[in-house]
Amino acid sequence: MANNLDLSKLSFEPIHVIGAGLAGSEAAWQIARAGVPVVLHEMRPVRQTEVHKSADFAELVCSNSFRADDPEASAIGVLHREMRRMDSLIMSAADAHKVPAGGALAVDREGFAAYVTNQISTQPLITIVREEVEGLPPPAWDNVVVATGPLTAPALANAIAALTGESGLAFFDAIAPVVHRDSIDMTKAWFQSRYDKAGPAGTGADYINCPLDKTQYEAFIDALLAAEKIDFKSFEKTPYFDGCLPIEVMAERGRETLRHGPMKPFGLTNPHNPTVKAYAIVQLRQDNALGTLYNMVGFQTKLKHGAQASVFRTIAGLEQASFARLGGMHRNTYLNSPRVLDAHLRLKAQPRLRFAGQITGCEGYVESAAVGLMAGRMAAAERKGEIFIPPPPTTSIGSLLNHITGGHIEVIDGGTASFQPMNANFGLFPPLSEKISNVGGKRLRGPEKAAAKKRALGVRAEVELENWLNDSPGLAAE
Ligand SMILES: Cc1cc2nc3c(=O)[nH]c(=O)nc-3n(C[C@H](O)[C@H](O)[C@H](O)COP(=O)(O)OP(=O)(O)OC[C@H]3O[C@@H](n4cnc5c(N)ncnc54)[C@H](O)[C@@H]3O)c2cc1C
Repeated sequence: MANNLDLSKLSFEPIHVIGAGLAGSEAAWQIARAGVPVVLHEMRPVRQTEVHKSADFAELVCSNSFRADDPEASAIGVLHREMRRMDSLIMSAADAHKVPAGGALAVDREGFAAYVTNQISTQPLITIVREEVEGLPPPAWDNVVVATGPLTAPALANAIAALTGESGLAFFDAIAPVVHRDSIDMTKAWFQSRYDKAGPAGTGADYINCPLDKTQYEAFIDALLAAEKIDFKSFEKTPYFDGCLPIEVMAERGRETLRHGPMKPFGLTNPHNPTVKAYAIVQLRQDNALGTLYNMVGFQTKLKHGAQASVFRTIAGLEQASFARLGGMHRNTYLNSPRVLDAHLRLKAQPRLRFAGQITGCEGYVESAAVGLMAGRMAAAERKGEIFIPPPPTTSIGSLLNHITGGHIEVIDGGTASFQPMNANFGLFPPLSEKISNVGGKRLRGPEKAAAKKRALGVRAEVELENWLNDSPGLAAE
């Protein structure tokens, strides 16, 4: 289907967008909205992925939830607000087709996808081509947005892998849980690198260590073995990579396996109890440049999310852990973006290729669409010869972009799995410059303080987004 538009009559050459999922549809919409023509290439229904079922654009492959819609209490709610402010097609489709879901924004999935498909199909500046892009786009396509998602068709995925090198593109994610630093009890945990090694970017005290005695370790293994697990889907029956086994699989292989793997206690001394050697130790490593998030080293898992939270909170120091994300393992094609993309989401090795959506290492429907929104605006600005300054990291969309293109710390022993897909969360925001401890003369503690902090981060984000839009001519919603 095409819109019969004579592209030769337009003042700009078209931008090619590959993939009409959440990110590609939003990118195409934003580009057209900026007055630049788009050719949108979508392989469905000619070729389906393992999970898509329809020919519609922006098909939701699993849940129908866009998660919490409250900008005062969640970073995803702030992201909703920012995207609405920037005329997001995905958000207007969600608002037009929402279904009752308490504080969450959930949608009628068929109505939602039909709305997106209709808006894109009737937008005069967008030409739709139903074809698989097999391999790298032809050299004549000088401005391309690749938004082919976690299940990118193999020919294109292999071509991108060849361009980025072995550690530039992952085909499977093995995600260890990520914890908010300020929820770790440092009266039980402590900072130390194994054998106090500083390494190239460290201080010798880079890891947070949580100790277990023999009784605690045995109880932890029992809980792990008994916990509910998620099955791999048929298309995910990939053999485990070495060094990437789920912890529960390691525990099934032998009760001592973890103690000789990710929970080994050697080279570490607990300053809270220096004369007693821990039987096992869980290490957490800094995950973002801000130092607000820490990942549980080697703790990739297929335990159900509820089970993860309860089993991991049995570990000393993590009793009150607040998880920025829980662990998982999925088939997922995603770039090692902090290394291979520039701040404008362009592939350093071939800057005509810009990436958007889950393939950049964000996670979730809304996040994928948000990165599509930015990629679309960046591509259009480039085509029009305009300067584009990315949004500040104090906004939800800016914090996500910052994490993808530069916020994550690549560690020497992190391997290819060092950069892990990430949802929007307040842990990606720079900390507030003022302490939230007193409001109206009242001293805040615990959940009250946490809620006030989230509200303040949301308010700051709103102000900063407006400033950014006002400073960027042509970007504000009409
Ligand atoms: C099984 C599974 C379940 C998920 N469940 C959820 C969930 O419940 N909630 C959530 O928030 N997130 C979920 N996600 C994560 C993520 O949010 C979704 O995958 C989301 O759709 C990603 O958006 P995207 O635009 O990057 O990719 P997609 O929405 O997958 O869009 C990519 C598009 O590119 C097309 N394409 C691929 N290769 C080519 C090619 N070579 N040429 C032309 N077209 C091509 C595909 O057909 C597809 O339409 C899930 C992911 C998977 C894999």
